[in-house]
Amino acid sequence: MMWADELAQAIEERFAKEIKAKTPLIIRDEKTLSGRVHIGSLRGIVIHGLIGQVLSQKGIKNTFKFELNDFDPMDGLPVSLDKAVYKPHMGKPLFTVPPHEEGFENYPMVFGEELKGVANALGIPIEWYMLKPLYEDGKFNETIRDALDNADKIRKIYLDVSGGGKPDNWYPFSVICEECGRIGTTQVTDWNGEKVHYTCRKDMVTWAEGCEHTGSISPFDGNGKLPWKVEWAAKWKVLGVHIEGAGKDHNAAGGSRGISNRISEEIFKYPEPFNIPYEFFNFRGKKMSASKGLGASAKEISDLLPPTLLKLLMIRKAPNQPLDFDPEGKTIPNLFDEYDRLSDHYFKRHPEPYEAFARTFELTQIDLSKPPENLWQARFSVLSFIVQMPHLSLEEEAEKIKGSALNKAEKEALEIRAKYMKQWLESSAPDGCKYVILNELPKDFSVDETQKNALTKLKEAFNDESVAWDGTSIHETIHKVKEGTGIQPKEIFQPLYQMFLGKTSGPQIGWFLSTFDRTEVIKRLESATI
Ligand SMILES: [Zn+2]
Repeated sequence: MMWADELAQAIEERFAKEIKAKTPLIIRDEKTLSGRVHIGSLRGIVIHGLIGQVLSQKGIKNTFKFELNDFDPMDGLPVSLDKAVYKPHMGKPLFTVPPHEEGFENYPMVFGEELKGVANALGIPIEWYMLKPLYEDGKFNETIRDALDNADKIRKIYLDVSGGGKPDNWYPFSVICEECGRIGTTQVTDWNGEKVHYTCRKDMVTWAEGCEHTGSISPFDGNGKLPWKVEWAAKWKVLGVHIEGAGKDHNAAGGSRGISNRISEEIFKYPEPFNIPYEFFNFRGKKMSASKGLGASAKEISDLLPPTLLKLLMIRKAPNQPLDFDPEGKTIPNLFDEYDRLSDHYFKRHPEPYEAFARTFELTQIDLSKPPENLWQARFSVLSFIVQMPHLSLEEEAEKIKGSALNKAEKEALEIRAKYMKQWLESSAPDGCKYVILNELPKDFSVDETQKNALTKLKEAFNDESVAWDGTSIHETIHKVKEGTGIQPKEIFQPLYQMFLGKTSGPQIGWFLSTFDRTEVIKRLESATI
């Protein structure tokens, strides 16, 4: 069974009562908009979104709410920002920081709008919401009161779970300083049931400096916010969350999930949502890290891949397995090939179709309301060759390989693939995938006697004009020569590619040779067998 179906089944069991009562299941995930959203963050969005889609297919009502967190403090300065302009904003809530690009509401929404564009292109139904308005509307007031009233119990939970205790005068709340507007620098030291007492500290954090103001203020209606681990639990209760996974780091022993679970159950009396722990997304073999500048943004990677392949990248492995992505390596060609292999299982072109592969293919589609269309698609190796050959017509060659005309949808699919292919070849493809046709036999070309004999036989066979000059006939001719001489496939294929490309591999050999004139191939074989 495909992993999303397994999870949906477990979810169905746990929430049988809610499902029977037709209560929509709430799925939630979030991202703090402190910088450009990295490709790794898309994994969580797609996992949660896919669960929602699978539940919907089963007739189970659900809503996937994704939080664009605009209330956390600005705690880092991306290198692209003007330091002089943005340094004074360090420590302020993100929503108060001005946008660095025109046409946006504020700084975090520059990143928020970009993320929305990437995720929406994948066809995942998402209800986007911002965090700050929930606080301002008083939605968190009850949990804020519970948290402040139970500050001692929360301190103990931190100590029990993570081993890292909090001082006795620590309260789970951060105020927006009335003097300087910072939230990352304030420390609440008392709570009298109506107001919190706080100090804006100069040295509370390394990334921002407070103004040393001291005051008392109501903690409600947006005057401040709960700290992350307490807030996480509060969000579950406030939004009625049923399902929410989290990355490996949060789920580690002593990590934030463990603390939030206990706060949720013991302080807010709300059960822990159904958890889906998921593994890291590795970029070029390393764990993605915003702080170390490792990785690429979700937008950059989404520009490299058609949406179906981006979705495949994110769902091809179960959440408990790490994902790897290297745009300069084989990841992209492999994704194209994997997509085509999965489609063979779905459309039963594979002799032994495997249900989980077929299902994965089905779920990579952007519009899940209708079954995928059975299209002929050009394989990656072939397509990457055609688009590099200015003398070849994309559509003509595709029709030759298919053996019949392409329909409208197939032509469109071909154009889309070719567009992404060209882009990849120009931007990040390894040299091994780049082809240049040589005008003459390469200088370092050499074959042994067995190979020379086979190539001579092949030249003679090609001279027979009664045999058609197309991919299938050429392939059959090579096969016959191979059988007749007993040569190993590799021994004859390699020089054939080398003659024209200067490298020992290429697209399927019969079709490859058919893209040249018969006389040209014979001439090249002659110079190769002198
Ligand atoms: Zn201040």
